[in-house]
Amino acid sequence: MYRVKEAFYTLQGEGAQAGRAAVFCRFSKCNLWTGREKDRAGAVCDFCDTDFVGTDGQNGGRFESAAALAAHVRNLWPDKQGTPYVVCTGGEPLLQLDKPLIDALHTAGFEIGVETNGTLAAPDGIDWLCVSPKADAEVVITECDELKLVYPQPLAPPERFLGIRARHYFLSPMASPSAQGADPIKQSNTRKATDYCLAHPQWRLTLQMHKILGID
Ligand code: SF4
Repeated sequence: MYRVKEAFYTLQGEGAQAGRAAVFCRFSKCNLWTGREKDRAGAVCDFCDTDFVGTDGQNGGRFESAAALAAHVRNLWPDKQGTPYVVCTGGEPLLQLDKPLIDALHTAGFEIGVETNGTLAAPDGIDWLCVSPKADAEVVITECDELKLVYPQPLAPPERFLGIRARHYFLSPMASPSAQGADPIKQSNTRKATDYCLAHPQWRLTLQMHKILGID
């Protein structure tokens, strides 16, 4: 049984794949927070702005088999247009994403991207792996395509993650909920991330394009 909060067709807004059309498949649940406000203060990850509780979002639901979920995702891709790309996100997708689902998505023609907090081992077959470490949670993934660190996090300084082999190292300025839609250049966290990248050029700045543009 796979539990999906929501699934929708949009543009990837961040990182090296920014601007690429993708079906986002948001899995329910995370291992670093329950998703309930009453638990936020005691959570390992306490700045999450994503609703991943339940299965009641757009195109969400419970899927009895990998084939059923892959068919659902395929139905959200425009017919015969380009290379199908799915981004498995959450919540924490590696709580549910397994080899049968990877095989079913590949059979449906998809390249598979995954956005994970890196605390769980990843199954083989993922085409694009993005690790986004959170607070002092131990990262067990040692190699990925891109490391995307929300910045600043007092317990997660960038230098802690340079031992993880990645093709790209990105800093993503932390946004407060009240800052959504605000001019990103004027946000102090964007300034701090910019300054860090200027001083440490192996890191690149990435902004949440989908929020700036106001698209899902
Ligand atoms: S690890 Fe990701 S999904 Fe989980 S609580 Fe943190 S930001 Fe949200």
